[in-house]
Amino acid sequence: MSDLAMRISDAVNAVGLVDTHEHLLSEDERNRAAHDFGYLFPHYASSDLISAGMPPGLLEAVRATARPVLVERMARIGWIRKPPPMVAPSGADLSLEERWAALEPYWERIRHTGYGTCLRLAIRDLFGVQGLDKTTYQRLSAAIAASRRVGWYRHVLQEKAGIAVSLQDDYRTAVDRALFAPMVRLEHFACATTRGDLRNIEADTDRSVHSLVDLVEAMHAALDRYLFEGAVGIKIGIAYRRSLRFEKVAHADAERTFARLFDHLGEGPSWAEARPLQDYMFHRIIQAAVERDVPIQIHTGLQEGNGNVLENSHPLHLTNLCLEYGRAKFDLFHGGYPFMGELLAMAKNFPNVYLDLCWLYIISPSAGARMLHEAIETVPSNKIFAFGGDFIIPEGAYGHSLMARRIVSRVLAEKVTDGSLTEEDAATLAQRILRENAATLYRLKLDTHGQKPS
Ligand SMILES: [Zn+2]
Repeated sequence: MSDLAMRISDAVNAVGLVDTHEHLLSEDERNRAAHDFGYLFPHYASSDLISAGMPPGLLEAVRATARPVLVERMARIGWIRKPPPMVAPSGADLSLEERWAALEPYWERIRHTGYGTCLRLAIRDLFGVQGLDKTTYQRLSAAIAASRRVGWYRHVLQEKAGIAVSLQDDYRTAVDRALFAPMVRLEHFACATTRGDLRNIEADTDRSVHSLVDLVEAMHAALDRYLFEGAVGIKIGIAYRRSLRFEKVAHADAERTFARLFDHLGEGPSWAEARPLQDYMFHRIIQAAVERDVPIQIHTGLQEGNGNVLENSHPLHLTNLCLEYGRAKFDLFHGGYPFMGELLAMAKNFPNVYLDLCWLYIISPSAGARMLHEAIETVPSNKIFAFGGDFIIPEGAYGHSLMARRIVSRVLAEKVTDGSLTEEDAATLAQRILRENAATLYRLKLDTHGQKPS
Protein backbone atom coordinates (compact mmCIF):
# COMPACT_ATOMS: atom_id res chain seq x y z
CA MET A 1 0.00 0.00 0.00
CA SER A 2 1.32 3.47 -0.85
CA ASP A 3 1.91 6.06 1.89
CA LEU A 4 -1.11 8.02 0.65
CA ALA A 5 -3.37 4.95 0.70
CA MET A 6 -2.08 4.14 4.18
CA ARG A 7 -2.84 7.65 5.52
CA ILE A 8 -6.34 7.60 4.06
CA SER A 9 -6.96 4.13 5.41
CA ASP A 10 -5.86 5.33 8.86
CA ALA A 11 -8.28 8.28 8.64
CA VAL A 12 -11.16 6.00 7.60
CA ASN A 13 -10.35 3.45 10.30
CA ALA A 14 -10.43 6.17 12.95
CA VAL A 15 -14.07 7.06 12.24
CA GLY A 16 -16.59 5.79 14.80
CA LEU A 17 -19.29 4.56 12.46
CA VAL A 18 -22.95 5.45 12.49
CA ASP A 19 -24.40 2.26 11.05
CA THR A 20 -27.69 3.18 9.36
CA HIS A 21 -29.25 -0.27 9.33
CA GLU A 22 -29.22 -3.46 11.39
CA HIS A 23 -31.74 -6.15 12.41
CA LEU A 24 -29.58 -7.68 15.14
CA LEU A 25 -30.86 -10.28 17.55
CA SER A 26 -30.68 -9.18 21.16
CA GLU A 27 -27.46 -10.35 22.77
CA ASP A 28 -29.43 -12.87 24.80
CA GLU A 29 -31.13 -14.27 21.68
CA ARG A 30 -27.76 -14.44 19.94
CA ASN A 31 -26.23 -16.34 22.83
CA ARG A 32 -29.08 -18.85 22.68
CA ALA A 33 -28.50 -19.40 18.94
CA ALA A 34 -24.69 -19.51 18.68
CA HIS A 35 -23.68 -23.15 19.12
CA ASP A 36 -21.67 -24.05 16.01
CA PHE A 37 -20.88 -23.08 12.39
CA GLY A 38 -24.57 -23.45 11.37
CA TYR A 39 -25.28 -20.21 13.29
CA LEU A 40 -23.35 -18.23 10.65
CA PHE A 41 -25.94 -18.98 7.94
CA PRO A 42 -29.17 -17.22 8.95
CA HIS A 43 -29.50 -15.18 5.73
CA TYR A 44 -27.50 -13.82 2.77
CA ALA A 45 -24.92 -16.63 2.53
CA SER A 46 -27.80 -19.05 3.04
CA SER A 47 -29.54 -17.52 0.00
CA ASP A 48 -26.35 -18.01 -2.02
CA LEU A 49 -26.28 -21.66 -0.84
CA ILE A 50 -29.83 -22.16 -2.14
CA SER A 51 -28.93 -20.37 -5.37
CA ALA A 52 -25.97 -22.76 -5.70
CA GLY A 53 -28.35 -25.73 -5.59
CA MET A 54 -28.53 -26.67 -1.90
CA PRO A 55 -31.92 -28.22 -1.07
CA PRO A 56 -33.73 -25.87 1.39
CA GLY A 57 -34.48 -28.67 3.83
CA LEU A 58 -30.80 -29.57 3.99
CA LEU A 59 -29.91 -25.97 4.82
CA GLU A 60 -32.39 -26.11 7.68
CA ALA A 61 -30.66 -29.25 8.97
CA VAL A 62 -27.25 -27.56 8.79
CA ARG A 63 -28.41 -24.65 10.94
CA ALA A 64 -30.68 -26.75 13.16
CA THR A 65 -29.17 -25.67 16.48
CA ALA A 66 -29.69 -21.97 15.73
CA ARG A 67 -32.96 -22.36 13.84
CA PRO A 68 -35.59 -21.66 16.51
CA VAL A 69 -34.16 -18.20 17.25
CA LEU A 70 -33.24 -17.28 13.67
CA VAL A 71 -36.52 -18.27 12.04
CA GLU A 72 -38.60 -16.23 14.49
CA ARG A 73 -36.58 -13.09 13.78
CA MET A 74 -36.50 -13.49 10.02
CA ALA A 75 -40.26 -14.01 9.87
CA ARG A 76 -40.70 -10.76 11.84
CA ILE A 77 -38.47 -8.84 9.42
CA GLY A 78 -40.50 -10.24 6.50
CA TRP A 79 -37.60 -12.15 4.86
CA ILE A 80 -39.52 -15.41 5.20
CA ARG A 81 -43.28 -16.05 5.40
CA LYS A 82 -43.24 -19.31 7.32
CA PRO A 83 -40.49 -21.57 8.56
CA PRO A 84 -39.24 -23.88 5.82
CA PRO A 85 -39.56 -27.60 6.59
CA MET A 86 -36.53 -29.62 7.66
CA VAL A 87 -35.66 -32.83 5.83
CA ALA A 88 -35.54 -36.11 7.73
CA PRO A 89 -33.44 -36.95 9.63
CA SER A 90 -33.80 -33.61 11.39
CA GLY A 91 -30.67 -31.53 11.87
CA ALA A 92 -30.82 -32.08 15.60
CA ASP A 93 -30.26 -35.80 14.96
CA LEU A 94 -27.20 -35.21 12.78
CA SER A 95 -23.70 -35.04 14.17
CA LEU A 96 -21.57 -31.94 13.61
CA GLU A 97 -19.54 -33.99 11.15
CA GLU A 98 -22.66 -34.97 9.16
CA ARG A 99 -23.86 -31.38 9.09
CA TRP A 100 -20.47 -30.23 7.81
CA ALA A 101 -20.60 -32.90 5.09
CA ALA A 102 -24.02 -31.53 4.07
CA LEU A 103 -22.74 -27.96 3.84
CA GLU A 104 -19.29 -28.47 2.34
CA PRO A 105 -20.06 -28.87 -1.40
CA TYR A 106 -22.33 -25.81 -1.44
CA TRP A 107 -20.08 -23.65 0.76
CA GLU A 108 -17.27 -24.41 -1.69
CA ARG A 109 -19.40 -22.80 -4.44
CA ILE A 110 -20.18 -19.58 -2.58
CA ARG A 111 -17.27 -18.82 -0.29
CA HIS A 112 -15.91 -16.20 -2.70
CA THR A 113 -19.17 -14.24 -3.16
CA GLY A 114 -19.50 -11.00 -1.23
CA TYR A 115 -21.57 -12.81 1.39
CA GLY A 116 -19.03 -15.61 1.71
CA THR A 117 -16.14 -13.16 1.92
CA CYS A 118 -17.86 -11.22 4.71
CA LEU A 119 -18.25 -14.42 6.75
CA ARG A 120 -14.66 -15.50 6.17
CA LEU A 121 -13.38 -12.13 7.48
CA ALA A 122 -15.55 -12.43 10.58
CA ILE A 123 -14.43 -16.02 11.20
CA ARG A 124 -10.77 -15.02 10.94
CA ASP A 125 -10.93 -11.92 13.13
CA LEU A 126 -13.52 -12.87 15.76
CA PHE A 127 -12.91 -16.57 16.24
CA GLY A 128 -9.22 -16.80 15.34
CA VAL A 129 -9.79 -19.53 12.76
CA GLN A 130 -8.56 -19.30 9.17
CA GLY A 131 -11.67 -19.88 7.08
CA LEU A 132 -14.32 -22.58 7.17
CA ASP A 133 -13.27 -25.96 5.79
CA LYS A 134 -12.90 -29.59 6.82
CA THR A 135 -9.86 -28.80 8.95
CA THR A 136 -11.48 -25.88 10.83
CA TYR A 137 -15.22 -26.48 11.26
CA GLN A 138 -14.79 -28.21 14.64
CA ARG A 139 -12.47 -25.55 16.07
CA LEU A 140 -14.71 -22.79 14.70
CA SER A 141 -17.76 -24.42 16.27
CA ALA A 142 -16.01 -24.66 19.64
CA ALA A 143 -14.98 -20.98 19.39
CA ILE A 144 -18.55 -19.94 18.53
CA ALA A 145 -19.94 -21.92 21.48
CA ALA A 146 -17.33 -20.34 23.79
CA SER A 147 -18.28 -16.83 22.64
CA ARG A 148 -21.73 -16.97 24.27
CA ARG A 149 -21.33 -14.36 26.97
CA VAL A 150 -22.58 -11.03 28.19
CA GLY A 151 -20.52 -8.31 26.56
CA TRP A 152 -20.01 -10.07 23.21
CA TYR A 153 -21.97 -7.30 21.41
CA ARG A 154 -19.91 -4.53 22.94
CA HIS A 155 -16.74 -6.44 22.01
CA VAL A 156 -17.77 -7.12 18.39
CA LEU A 157 -19.72 -3.97 17.51
CA GLN A 158 -17.80 -1.31 19.41
CA GLU A 159 -14.29 -2.65 20.03
CA LYS A 160 -13.82 -4.65 16.82
CA ALA A 161 -16.10 -2.94 14.27
CA GLY A 162 -15.76 0.58 15.71
CA ILE A 163 -19.49 1.19 15.40
CA ALA A 164 -20.57 4.09 17.61
CA VAL A 165 -24.27 3.40 17.19
CA SER A 166 -26.50 1.36 14.88
CA LEU A 167 -30.02 2.18 13.73
CA GLN A 168 -31.90 -0.97 14.64
CA ASP A 169 -34.84 -1.89 12.41
CA ASP A 170 -37.47 -3.52 14.60
CA TYR A 171 -41.08 -3.19 15.64
CA ARG A 172 -39.98 -2.81 19.22
CA THR A 173 -38.19 0.14 20.72
CA ALA A 174 -36.74 -2.04 23.49
CA VAL A 175 -33.10 -2.14 22.37
CA ASP A 176 -29.80 -1.63 24.20
CA ARG A 177 -29.46 2.15 23.92
CA ALA A 178 -25.71 1.99 24.51
CA LEU A 179 -25.38 0.31 21.10
CA PHE A 180 -28.58 1.05 19.16
CA ALA A 181 -31.16 3.67 18.24
CA PRO A 182 -34.51 2.16 17.22
CA MET A 183 -36.30 2.56 13.88
CA VAL A 184 -39.95 1.56 13.89
CA ARG A 185 -42.24 -0.14 11.41
CA LEU A 186 -45.80 0.98 10.79
CA GLU A 187 -46.69 -1.11 7.75
CA HIS A 188 -48.99 -3.40 9.75
CA PHE A 189 -51.37 -0.42 9.84
CA ALA A 190 -51.36 -0.32 6.03
CA CYS A 191 -51.44 -4.06 5.46
CA ALA A 192 -54.25 -5.04 7.87
CA THR A 193 -56.36 -7.46 5.85
CA THR A 194 -58.42 -9.33 8.46
CA ARG A 195 -60.47 -8.58 11.53
CA GLY A 196 -57.73 -10.35 13.47
CA ASP A 197 -55.17 -7.83 12.21
CA LEU A 198 -57.43 -5.01 13.38
CA ARG A 199 -57.90 -6.67 16.79
CA ASN A 200 -54.12 -6.83 17.16
CA ILE A 201 -53.87 -3.12 16.35
CA GLU A 202 -56.58 -2.38 18.90
CA ALA A 203 -54.77 -4.39 21.54
CA ASP A 204 -51.41 -2.79 20.73
CA THR A 205 -52.70 0.79 20.70
CA ASP A 206 -55.45 0.39 23.32
CA ARG A 207 -57.96 2.05 20.97
CA SER A 208 -61.11 0.95 19.12
CA VAL A 209 -60.81 0.74 15.34
CA HIS A 210 -64.16 0.81 13.49
CA SER A 211 -63.45 3.22 10.65
CA LEU A 212 -60.60 4.34 8.44
CA VAL A 213 -60.32 7.49 10.56
CA ASP A 214 -59.89 5.27 13.64
CA LEU A 215 -57.15 3.30 11.85
CA VAL A 216 -55.24 6.48 10.93
CA GLU A 217 -55.58 7.78 14.48
CA ALA A 218 -54.30 4.49 15.88
CA MET A 219 -51.27 4.70 13.57
CA HIS A 220 -50.60 8.27 14.78
CA ALA A 221 -50.90 7.18 18.40
CA ALA A 222 -48.48 4.28 17.84
CA LEU A 223 -45.97 6.53 16.09
CA ASP A 224 -46.14 9.14 18.85
CA ARG A 225 -45.61 6.45 21.46
CA TYR A 226 -42.59 5.02 19.58
CA LEU A 227 -41.08 8.50 19.21
CA PHE A 228 -41.64 9.18 22.91
CA GLU A 229 -39.82 5.91 23.61
CA GLY A 230 -36.83 7.10 21.58
CA ALA A 231 -37.40 5.95 18.00
CA VAL A 232 -35.40 8.07 15.55
CA GLY A 233 -37.20 7.19 12.31
CA ILE A 234 -39.62 4.99 10.40
CA LYS A 235 -38.60 2.01 8.25
CA ILE A 236 -40.71 0.77 5.33
CA GLY A 237 -39.77 -2.72 4.12
CA ILE A 238 -42.90 -3.39 2.07
CA ALA A 239 -41.04 -3.99 -1.24
CA TYR A 240 -40.81 -7.64 -0.16
CA ARG A 241 -44.57 -7.90 -0.60
CA ARG A 242 -45.73 -5.40 -3.22
CA SER A 243 -44.74 -2.62 -5.61
CA LEU A 244 -43.35 0.63 -4.21
CA ARG A 245 -45.79 2.61 -6.36
CA PHE A 246 -48.31 4.09 -3.92
CA GLU A 247 -51.22 5.70 -5.78
CA LYS A 248 -53.10 8.70 -4.49
CA VAL A 249 -56.41 7.21 -3.35
CA ALA A 250 -59.53 9.11 -2.24
CA HIS A 251 -60.60 8.59 1.36
CA ALA A 252 -63.97 7.19 0.25
CA ASP A 253 -62.32 4.50 -1.91
CA ALA A 254 -60.00 3.42 0.91
CA GLU A 255 -62.90 3.47 3.37
CA ARG A 256 -64.85 1.12 1.08
CA THR A 257 -61.95 -1.37 1.20
CA PHE A 258 -61.67 -0.93 4.94
CA ALA A 259 -65.39 -1.78 5.38
CA ARG A 260 -64.91 -4.99 3.41
CA LEU A 261 -62.35 -6.31 5.93
CA PHE A 262 -65.30 -7.01 8.19
CA ASP A 263 -67.01 -9.19 5.54
CA HIS A 264 -64.15 -11.65 5.44
CA LEU A 265 -63.97 -14.63 7.74
CA GLY A 266 -60.22 -14.71 8.04
CA GLU A 267 -58.91 -15.16 4.53
CA GLY A 268 -58.86 -11.39 3.85
CA PRO A 269 -59.44 -9.52 0.60
CA SER A 270 -57.37 -10.13 -2.53
CA TRP A 271 -54.38 -7.92 -3.31
CA ALA A 272 -56.43 -6.04 -5.93
CA GLU A 273 -59.15 -5.36 -3.35
CA ALA A 274 -56.69 -4.42 -0.60
CA ARG A 275 -54.48 -2.12 -2.62
CA PRO A 276 -56.52 1.13 -2.33
CA LEU A 277 -56.45 0.85 1.46
CA GLN A 278 -52.72 0.07 1.50
CA ASP A 279 -51.87 2.94 -0.85
CA TYR A 280 -53.98 5.34 1.18
CA MET A 281 -52.37 4.28 4.46
CA PHE A 282 -48.82 4.56 3.11
CA HIS A 283 -49.54 8.15 2.11
CA ARG A 284 -50.89 8.76 5.61
CA ILE A 285 -47.73 7.24 7.13
CA ILE A 286 -45.54 9.55 5.02
CA GLN A 287 -47.72 12.52 6.01
CA ALA A 288 -47.42 11.56 9.69
CA ALA A 289 -43.62 11.42 9.33
CA VAL A 290 -43.54 14.83 7.61
CA GLU A 291 -45.74 16.41 10.31
CA ARG A 292 -43.31 15.17 12.97
CA ASP A 293 -40.14 15.79 10.89
CA VAL A 294 -39.12 12.12 11.15
CA PRO A 295 -36.88 10.50 8.47
CA ILE A 296 -38.27 7.53 6.51
CA GLN A 297 -36.06 4.61 5.46
CA ILE A 298 -37.36 2.66 2.46
CA HIS A 299 -36.05 -0.66 1.16
CA THR A 300 -35.34 -0.48 -2.58
CA GLY A 301 -33.63 -3.01 -4.87
CA LEU A 302 -32.66 -6.63 -4.25
CA GLN A 303 -34.73 -8.48 -1.67
CA GLU A 304 -33.12 -10.99 0.68
CA GLY A 305 -34.03 -14.62 -0.01
CA ASN A 306 -34.56 -16.51 -3.25
CA GLY A 307 -37.22 -16.01 -5.90
CA ASN A 308 -38.48 -12.47 -5.25
CA VAL A 309 -40.21 -10.01 -7.58
CA LEU A 310 -37.35 -7.61 -8.21
CA GLU A 311 -39.25 -4.99 -10.18
CA ASN A 312 -41.53 -4.34 -7.18
CA SER A 313 -38.60 -2.67 -5.45
CA HIS A 314 -37.49 -0.34 -8.25
CA PRO A 315 -36.75 3.06 -6.68
CA LEU A 316 -38.38 4.94 -9.57
CA HIS A 317 -41.75 3.67 -8.27
CA LEU A 318 -41.26 6.23 -5.50
CA THR A 319 -41.12 9.23 -7.84
CA ASN A 320 -44.68 10.40 -7.08
CA LEU A 321 -43.93 10.39 -3.32
CA CYS A 322 -40.68 12.30 -3.85
CA LEU A 323 -42.55 14.91 -5.93
CA GLU A 324 -45.50 15.27 -3.56
CA TYR A 325 -43.71 15.26 -0.20
CA GLY A 326 -41.04 17.91 -0.58
CA ARG A 327 -40.58 18.17 3.19
CA ALA A 328 -40.13 14.43 3.70
CA LYS A 329 -36.68 12.93 4.28
CA PHE A 330 -36.44 9.71 2.29
CA ASP A 331 -33.42 7.56 3.15
CA LEU A 332 -33.44 5.09 0.21
CA PHE A 333 -31.69 1.81 0.87
CA HIS A 334 -29.20 -0.62 -0.57
CA GLY A 335 -28.02 1.68 -3.36
CA GLY A 336 -31.15 0.45 -5.16
CA TYR A 337 -29.03 -2.50 -6.38
CA PRO A 338 -29.18 -3.36 -9.23
CA PHE A 339 -31.01 -0.10 -10.11
CA MET A 340 -28.09 1.98 -8.91
CA GLY A 341 -27.96 4.57 -11.69
CA GLU A 342 -31.61 5.42 -11.15
CA LEU A 343 -31.18 5.85 -7.40
CA LEU A 344 -28.09 8.03 -7.91
CA ALA A 345 -30.06 10.25 -10.27
CA MET A 346 -32.91 10.50 -7.74
CA ALA A 347 -30.56 11.48 -4.90
CA LYS A 348 -28.95 14.05 -7.19
CA ASN A 349 -32.27 15.42 -8.35
CA PHE A 350 -34.50 15.47 -5.26
CA PRO A 351 -33.49 17.48 -2.16
CA ASN A 352 -35.64 15.09 -0.08
CA VAL A 353 -33.85 11.90 -1.20
CA TYR A 354 -30.79 10.53 0.63
CA LEU A 355 -28.60 7.76 -0.75
CA ASP A 356 -27.93 4.83 1.59
CA LEU A 357 -25.40 2.14 0.69
CA CYS A 358 -26.35 -0.24 3.52
CA TRP A 359 -26.05 -3.94 2.61
CA LEU A 360 -24.42 -3.04 -0.73
CA TYR A 361 -20.72 -3.88 -0.17
CA ILE A 362 -21.47 -7.51 0.58
CA ILE A 363 -23.91 -7.90 -2.31
CA SER A 364 -21.02 -6.80 -4.52
CA PRO A 365 -17.85 -5.10 -3.29
CA SER A 366 -17.11 -3.84 -6.82
CA ALA A 367 -20.61 -2.46 -7.34
CA GLY A 368 -20.31 -0.76 -3.94
CA ALA A 369 -16.99 0.83 -4.91
CA ARG A 370 -18.33 1.92 -8.31
CA MET A 371 -21.41 3.40 -6.76
CA LEU A 372 -19.45 5.29 -4.12
CA HIS A 373 -17.20 6.73 -6.86
CA GLU A 374 -20.26 7.91 -8.77
CA ALA A 375 -22.03 9.12 -5.64
CA ILE A 376 -19.12 11.40 -4.69
CA GLU A 377 -19.26 12.83 -8.23
CA THR A 378 -23.03 13.26 -8.43
CA VAL A 379 -24.67 13.56 -5.01
CA PRO A 380 -24.12 16.38 -2.45
CA SER A 381 -21.87 15.03 0.28
CA ASN A 382 -24.40 15.65 3.06
CA LYS A 383 -26.78 13.09 1.55
CA ILE A 384 -24.56 9.98 1.30
CA PHE A 385 -24.69 7.29 4.00
CA ALA A 386 -21.84 4.89 3.32
CA PHE A 387 -22.36 2.09 5.83
CA GLY A 388 -25.15 -0.11 7.15
CA GLY A 389 -24.40 -3.69 8.15
CA ASP A 390 -27.90 -5.14 7.68
CA PHE A 391 -27.42 -8.39 9.64
CA ILE A 392 -29.21 -10.29 12.37
CA ILE A 393 -25.89 -11.61 13.75
CA PRO A 394 -23.22 -9.18 14.99
CA GLU A 395 -20.40 -11.18 13.39
CA GLY A 396 -21.86 -10.32 9.96
CA ALA A 397 -22.03 -6.64 10.84
CA TYR A 398 -18.34 -6.81 11.82
CA GLY A 399 -17.26 -8.46 8.54
CA HIS A 400 -19.30 -5.95 6.59
CA SER A 401 -17.81 -2.99 8.47
CA LEU A 402 -14.33 -4.20 7.57
CA MET A 403 -15.26 -4.44 3.88
CA ALA A 404 -16.91 -1.00 4.02
CA ARG A 405 -13.82 0.64 5.53
CA ARG A 406 -11.59 -0.98 2.90
CA ILE A 407 -13.83 0.10 0.02
CA VAL A 408 -14.31 3.66 1.28
CA SER A 409 -10.54 3.95 1.81
CA ARG A 410 -9.78 2.66 -1.68
CA VAL A 411 -12.31 4.91 -3.42
CA LEU A 412 -11.12 8.01 -1.55
CA ALA A 413 -7.47 7.20 -2.30
CA GLU A 414 -8.29 6.80 -6.00
CA LYS A 415 -10.08 10.15 -5.98
CA VAL A 416 -7.05 11.83 -4.39
CA THR A 417 -4.70 10.12 -6.85
CA ASP A 418 -6.73 11.28 -9.86
CA GLY A 419 -6.74 14.82 -8.49
CA SER A 420 -10.48 15.20 -7.86
CA LEU A 421 -10.05 15.39 -4.06
CA THR A 422 -7.32 16.69 -1.79
CA GLU A 423 -6.20 14.46 1.04
CA GLU A 424 -7.93 16.81 3.47
CA ASP A 425 -11.16 16.57 1.44
CA ALA A 426 -10.93 12.78 1.63
CA ALA A 427 -10.66 12.81 5.43
CA THR A 428 -13.59 15.23 5.72
CA LEU A 429 -15.71 13.13 3.35
CA ALA A 430 -14.96 9.96 5.32
CA GLN A 431 -16.25 11.61 8.52
CA ARG A 432 -19.37 12.81 6.75
CA ILE A 433 -20.43 9.71 4.85
CA LEU A 434 -19.57 7.21 7.60
CA ARG A 435 -20.79 9.17 10.63
CA GLU A 436 -21.88 12.79 10.60
CA ASN A 437 -24.54 12.71 7.86
CA ALA A 438 -26.53 9.97 9.55
CA ALA A 439 -25.98 11.48 13.00
CA THR A 440 -27.39 14.79 11.72
CA LEU A 441 -30.41 13.37 9.87
CA TYR A 442 -31.40 11.10 12.77
CA ARG A 443 -30.46 13.64 15.47
CA LEU A 444 -28.27 11.15 17.31
CA LYS A 445 -26.52 12.15 20.50
CA LEU A 446 -23.04 10.90 19.72
CA ASP A 447 -21.42 12.39 22.82
CA THR A 448 -22.36 9.14 24.55
CA HIS A 449 -20.74 7.08 21.79
CA GLY A 450 -17.00 7.49 21.39
CA GLN A 451 -14.77 7.31 18.35
CA LYS A 452 -13.35 3.95 17.41
CA PRO A 453 -10.73 3.00 19.99
CA SER A 454 -7.29 2.78 18.39
ZN1 LIG B 1 -32.42 -4.79 6.24
